[in-house]
Amino acid sequence: MSEIITSTNTAPGAAGLPERARLSFDLDVDIAVVGAGLAGLTVALEAARLGASVAVLEGRHVGWNASGHQLGTVMPGYGLPIGELIARIGFEDTRELWALSREGAEYVRAMASESSMAAIALGEGALEVSNVQAGDQLISRLQTLGEDFETEVEGWQVERVRAELKTDRYFHGVYYPKAFQVDGRKYVHGLAALARRAGARIFEDTPVVSIDPSGIRKRIVTPSARLRAAHIVLAGNIHLGAPLRRLSETLLPVWRYAAVTAPLGERLAEAITFQGSVTDSDGIDHFRIVDGDRLMWASPETTWAARPQRFAPAIARRIRTIFPRLGRVEIAEVFGGATGETVHGMPQIGQLRKGLWVASGFGRQGLNTSAMAGQLIARSILWGDERWRLFSPFELVWAGGTTGRVAGYAVSKWERGSSAAAGTLARYRERARARERIREARLAEANRQAGTRPPQRRPPPGRPRPPRPQPPQAEPDQGEGG
Ligand SMILES: Cc1cc2nc3c(=O)[nH]c(=O)nc-3n(C[C@H](O)[C@H](O)[C@H](O)COP(=O)(O)OP(=O)(O)OC[C@H]3O[C@@H](n4cnc5c(N)ncnc54)[C@H](O)[C@@H]3O)c2cc1C
Repeated sequence: MSEIITSTNTAPGAAGLPERARLSFDLDVDIAVVGAGLAGLTVALEAARLGASVAVLEGRHVGWNASGHQLGTVMPGYGLPIGELIARIGFEDTRELWALSREGAEYVRAMASESSMAAIALGEGALEVSNVQAGDQLISRLQTLGEDFETEVEGWQVERVRAELKTDRYFHGVYYPKAFQVDGRKYVHGLAALARRAGARIFEDTPVVSIDPSGIRKRIVTPSARLRAAHIVLAGNIHLGAPLRRLSETLLPVWRYAAVTAPLGERLAEAITFQGSVTDSDGIDHFRIVDGDRLMWASPETTWAARPQRFAPAIARRIRTIFPRLGRVEIAEVFGGATGETVHGMPQIGQLRKGLWVASGFGRQGLNTSAMAGQLIARSILWGDERWRLFSPFELVWAGGTTGRVAGYAVSKWERGSSAAAGTLARYRERARARERIREARLAEANRQAGTRPPQRRPPPGRPRPPRPQPPQAEPDQGEGG
């Protein structure tokens, strides 16, 4: 497994975290789960609650990767836009998948509200803002979500968006009043606590080095013990490695970095009044206010593991670019984690062969989707619920090895570059329209005072038309790693 460094203190005993237990004796269980991230822990919790004996094997510690280093925004949906889902699998199956994604979000709310996680304050609402003028698309999206997919949404006009977010970068918005936020780090440790309480055993510092999935009792080898199980759930995300390398190679690893600023005081309230999560329609920025006057902001990405601290200046610059009135911001903490992106954009949920399951590829939207995966898999194993088959059209596709990763990153950089260009152009058009409106108002006023009709807008014959103004050059991408 490759190393990821964060500035988070996850040492055993820190902030009330339990001492880590390593698997040092052979064990026989109903279900063995590889990986103690959101996905693995949800499977473990659900299966233990349904009466199975469960062991979770974690190579590092609970929430070591993305699950312990995320922004905590919980929304319905998937990485793949709804329109593309409909095009791919049809309207009815998309409706079912969407309903499952909503259930996943509600599951997170329910778990976060259980008494052991009572310390988690749930924030409300999420706003997806458009980087370009996209009023028509917005209306059709609102209709699809609200009428066909029974999801509570509001369309926000540009003025409303800009009243809450004081920047000319954003245009329309889709507001999800039922979306919410959790403290991501507390949530993953809360899940582990609930799973333990339900009877699941979690072994940390216990990497799975090989798996033999043949036979009714499947075998797992760790450095100091062996384990046998009727079912194995692979929830190792991109770090699964040797036990099933071909599965790891179906994921494109993308490291995403985030920061929390130092307290910004009054100037934050002057720039941002919206208290929920904000994401932009191109998936570049994702932020929200935490602790009253700090910003938590995720933006840069790489396809290799880097020290998150390296991205502090880039994130500070990005915040200032979007909200110039904030001025210079100081970064107090930086963190990051690797997400596993699939080629088709949908998570990998299902049975690979009898008794061998996968719950992976949750990308950037892992809270609701991993919760859904955990429930689906546990219920299929223990109750025969077959709804995971809705994910069958999204087969395991090789992500292209090292070359594919580099190519994937190049494509993502290019997409971000063209989004930035489209955003610049949209803002330019808007400024041009505003100038034109002012000019026309002045002209009308001058005509009113002079009692004349508006002059012909065409230039007089023989006089050349003034050249059309050219849009400015697209702004460069935001520094290192995107
Ligand atoms: C900066 C950032 C912000 C994000 N914000 C949000 C957000 O606001 N909302 C949202 O929904 N999603 C968000 N995400 C995405 C979300 O965090 C992920 O989709 C989710 O955490 C993936 O969970 P997982 O359990 O699949 O993987 P992981 O968290 O990677 O967990 C897998 C675990 O398996 C272990 N493992 C792997 N291989 C082995 C092995 N061989 N043996 C033993 N153990 C092994 C690893 O050590 C790891 O702990 C964010 C991600 C990042 C990086």
